[in-house]
Amino acid sequence: MRILIVEDERKISSYLKRGLEEQGYAVDAAFTGREALDWAASAPYDLIILDILLPELDGISVCRELRKRGMRMPVLMLTARDGIDDRVAGLDAGADDYLVKPFALKELLARLRALTRRAADAPKSAVFSVADLTMDTSSHCVKRGGRVIELTSKEYAILECLLHATGRVLTRTLIAEHVWNYEVFNQSNVVDVYIRNLRRKIDDAFPVKLIHTIRGAGYRLSVEGDNETL
Ligand code: CA
Repeated sequence: MRILIVEDERKISSYLKRGLEEQGYAVDAAFTGREALDWAASAPYDLIILDILLPELDGISVCRELRKRGMRMPVLMLTARDGIDDRVAGLDAGADDYLVKPFALKELLARLRALTRRAADAPKSAVFSVADLTMDTSSHCVKRGGRVIELTSKEYAILECLLHATGRVLTRTLIAEHVWNYEVFNQSNVVDVYIRNLRRKIDDAFPVKLIHTIRGAGYRLSVEGDNETL
């Protein structure tokens, strides 16, 4: 279960992250509204905890944008005020529930369990695909042209990241942070090594290449190449 925490107050963010990780959740932290949208576009989250008061873009706008992009994961809003207007605006923007600060971790965990239970009951497609490449996220099975491709867990995580952002460029840093969970990461060439392995497995035997290197930017998964592609 992967959760994104969007909260600009570092103390609250790290307190929540620690608390959730102790419960076995995989947790990423975004500190601004724009960062939240970037993270959500690059990795599949099962739930988003979204503070309303954020720099750049507030939580309500972030939630509205997520829904506009067709993302349906449960969103739990955090609000500093007990204002009824905030709650209504949050729910109107597509949030599933809200919690008023300050709250006890126990209460947050109870809400998370309720929300994820509800989400699990809703039917959802677990298969991503681009061209003849498919990834079934429930069985962790990857196929190209009907043939099963064996990937290591890191290769799988990188491909998942690329597939989720199909057609858009992902930087090495974003990929590294997703796959290695925010560990300090100076060797961006490690990402290149994994990408090379992935290419060997999913592209080498096929005429249509799917993984493209975008010079000075990162990588993109798409059917068509372009002049920037090396
Ligand atoms: Ca805040």
